[in-house]
Amino acid sequence: MNLLIFNNAMKEISKKFIRLRNEMLEKQIIARGITDPQVLDAISRVPRHLFVSEALVDSAYGDFPLPIGEGQTISQPYIIAQMTHNLDLKGHERVLEIGTGSGYQAAVLSKIVYKVYTIERNNSLFLQTRKLFDRLKYHNIVTRYSDGTQGWNSEGPFDAIIVTAGGQSIPLPLVDQLALGGRLIMPVGGNHVQELLKLEKTQEGIKTTKLGGCRFVKLIGQHGWDR
Ligand code: SAH
Repeated sequence: MNLLIFNNAMKEISKKFIRLRNEMLEKQIIARGITDPQVLDAISRVPRHLFVSEALVDSAYGDFPLPIGEGQTISQPYIIAQMTHNLDLKGHERVLEIGTGSGYQAAVLSKIVYKVYTIERNNSLFLQTRKLFDRLKYHNIVTRYSDGTQGWNSEGPFDAIIVTAGGQSIPLPLVDQLALGGRLIMPVGGNHVQELLKLEKTQEGIKTTKLGGCRFVKLIGQHGWDR
């Protein structure tokens, strides 16, 4: 194949993914009521197909979660949009994510906020995703390999915290590391289904809102499931 044909073929492929991404935004996210321009813009700028394995590239923009190896999953696009929207971000924030996984949620956040801190407990996912962040030049994402249920004390307090794995309760270190006025989102419940909870830390105390049912993989660690 000569270079011109190759370049044209590559352009067609990237056009295809842009079209799939726009369709995903319209049919899965806007149609379900999320119209926050910042969230839509961030999602439109992250190439979701690069966060899944080559075998799943054609399903990357589907209305469902996908396996990312190690028994873990990348969330359904709508859940990513819903969680991001509920963090009420303006742009200046430092956000902590627990459960880096594929890196997709962190990448979406990185397009909105000043800095994203993300923790992963699985070494192979941690290494793989850190490499991807470097390749895609997501320079405002800092990664760490550790048990995220203990938070990241030396970098706290955080303006927002997002936990992308489910536990029976919200780990106390995370509540401690949330800044006054900050928001924390986490799926809380049993090991098969959970409720998405939003915590707001105010002068008067902690306010909790239920955002609906969801299904996440387990948050495993000192303040999570044993295994
Ligand atoms: N945010 C991810 C979702 C990945 S699934 C994405 O966008 O793809 C949840 C991830 O949480 C898994 O990778 C799992 O290994 C990780 N995880 C589970 N318990 C953890 C803990 N205590 N600390 C850090 N990561 C954890």
